[in-house]
Amino acid sequence: MAEPMLRIQDLSVFYGPFRALEGIDLEVGAGEIVSIIGANGAGKSSLMKAIVGQADRIEGAIRFEGDDITARSTAETTRAGIALVPEGRRLFPSLTVEENLMIGREVGREGEIGFDQVYGYFPILRERRGQMVRSLSGGQQQMVALGRALLANPKLLLCDEISLGLAPVIINGLYEIIPEIRDRGIGIVIVEQDITRSLAVADRFYCLLEGKVNLSGRPAETSRDEVARHYFGM
Ligand code: ATP
Repeated sequence: MAEPMLRIQDLSVFYGPFRALEGIDLEVGAGEIVSIIGANGAGKSSLMKAIVGQADRIEGAIRFEGDDITARSTAETTRAGIALVPEGRRLFPSLTVEENLMIGREVGREGEIGFDQVYGYFPILRERRGQMVRSLSGGQQQMVALGRALLANPKLLLCDEISLGLAPVIINGLYEIIPEIRDRGIGIVIVEQDITRSLAVADRFYCLLEGKVNLSGRPAETSRDEVARHYFGM
């Protein structure tokens, strides 16, 4: 079988002596949407950070397109084709929409996604492109964060809680874009508190409990009851 785009083997993540993740095995293929679910503190964000070189200390192996990226920095993983939409967006509020988007372009790789594609996904950002990000609504700011990641032309897009604090109608708009991004052949990992939404869009999922994968599979082949039992560790 061909090597999956991302292959994580026996990954552990530490903060000082505390082990936040233990023995994680996880794969993501090109054009696949993979959902990571789990309660607060289960280790979802730590997993995202480990992939892009932002974890304090890790053990195990992370391979991307066959290359060992375990010890790589964020700058290196971004250039290799992995973009993270971080929890809390991490935008520059005093810079304009376009200046924030430009950052993705500068740190990323060459590719087919440019400003026109991002403004095509989010027309409101074209209208607001000269405005400071701080003057935007939360939903619009999340569009900027997603747009910035897309402008890096990722092969793998990691989305950490992109719907947090947003109104359902805004979240629906963001989630309409996800399959379109996948149709470009981009692999997508989604971390989301809203399990229903997250599983609805995913091809496969992994459930984390206290730093370990305790269930994985295809949403279509797994009962809600089984997901709930593993999510809550019952
Ligand atoms: P949430 O939904 O609350 O973001 P999560 O599933 O993303 O939760 P993580 O943020 O990855 O979980 O946290 C996993 C564990 O690691 C938690 O027990 C958390 O307290 C701990 N942790 C996370 N970041 C740090 C840090 N910088 N220093 C120490 N411990 C941390």
